[in-house]
Amino acid sequence: MARAAVVVTGTEVLTGRVPDANGPWLAEQLRGLGADIGAVVTVGDRPGDLASALRFAASGHDLVITSGGLGPTADDLTVAVVADALGLGIGLDTALETRIRAVVDRIAAARGWTTPENELAAGTRKQALVPEGAAVLEPVGTAPGLVVADPRGGPPVVVLPGPPSELQAMWPTALDDPRVRAALGLDDGAEALHERTIRISGPPEAELAGLLREHEQRHGRLEAAGLEVTTCLRDGDLEVVTRFRPRASPAYDALEHAVLGRFADSVYSTDGATVDEVVAAGLRRHGWTVATAESCTAGLLAGRLADLPGSSEYLLGGVVTYSDAAKTTHLGVPADLIARRGAVSANVARAMAEGVRQRFGSTLAVAVTGIAGPGGARPGKPVGLVHVALAGPDGTGTHRLHLTGDRAHVRARTVTRCLHLLRA
Ligand code: ATP
Ligand code: MG
Repeated sequence: MARAAVVVTGTEVLTGRVPDANGPWLAEQLRGLGADIGAVVTVGDRPGDLASALRFAASGHDLVITSGGLGPTADDLTVAVVADALGLGIGLDTALETRIRAVVDRIAAARGWTTPENELAAGTRKQALVPEGAAVLEPVGTAPGLVVADPRGGPPVVVLPGPPSELQAMWPTALDDPRVRAALGLDDGAEALHERTIRISGPPEAELAGLLREHEQRHGRLEAAGLEVTTCLRDGDLEVVTRFRPRASPAYDALEHAVLGRFADSVYSTDGATVDEVVAAGLRRHGWTVATAESCTAGLLAGRLADLPGSSEYLLGGVVTYSDAAKTTHLGVPADLIARRGAVSANVARAMAEGVRQRFGSTLAVAVTGIAGPGGARPGKPVGLVHVALAGPDGTGTHRLHLTGDRAHVRARTVTRCLHLLRA
């Protein structure tokens, strides 16, 4: 399988001020094409570091892709460094210069720039410099991309702009280039790669690892059967991602069967659907509606339910009752119940859920009350203690969660657990 490496440039990305959107996006595209992604390397705007990263990327990979550093300013160095690394001269593409200048003039007019003519001209000329033998990928913004072949036989280098929207818009034109197609083996008639995801809520990773080991003892190594299995823990759930060629389908079916056999109650999706999507589909299928009452998550649950388009079909609304008084005033939670048990208790969660269900007239209602921390712990009520309740036509159930981690983690995990309640 062809292997590609991505080199992401930009000091703002290296330092984390701007989270890298291009490495993960390109990695996903390459996987979709049936190629293997060998590495995503991030470097700052130092030419020496970029040169080292290019050397690393070129060895053991069939294609190198760079992102960023194509702008008109002096700190945008990618083209010069790539040309130097491949031992190529650079020439001015005057036709390209004219096309870029037209775009620059249009942007300058629209934004009312008063940049001096000599600076516009210099920036445009810089962006129209092309290494020998390189193919130009037409600019989406002002920066053209490039496909640069290595005359010494190394992998071709695809040079793409940094802004994610520009990079993503340009990527399909890079895939039209015959050298890129050859490097990725796109025309080899290889069978497409399938990717299947099983999502499991509940079991620890070790239990899944044990199951995979047993499965291998019985049926032979997964890799030998043509299955590439990766498992990861995400948002409290286990994800089993398997890639395989069509001929390994029976081996995959056997694996899925084994996972379903062991974790029948906790597998909630075998087609890649997220818990959010499973909940949405279930509510739609039943024609049910839902409302939320939130204390420590303060709207995160309602927000997550509204993340999917079309949520207005089932999400009626929610209330944030952060203070004790708000729980009483807006949800009708008896003040003496809060006084006796404290706001973080199963009975208060129950009263919140029933109160919000009645007020919205929804089929189901979820309520959350807990201690997200870092402060707020009381005797018998540690940080991470959360009571959730699900009210429905058949009554109300409550659940006590003991979550670990910091405030953000406790709140995020609470929301996921609430979604699992709605799924069941
Ligand atoms: P420009 O002409 O805009 O300068 P460029 O190719 O030189 O294009 P960069 O200067 O590297 O691109 O990046 C421009 C902006 O695009 C950055 O400030 C950043 O906001 C965004 N960007 C660049 N690389 C990434 C990345 N890997 N992930 C997310 N955003 C990025
Ligand atoms: Mg730039």
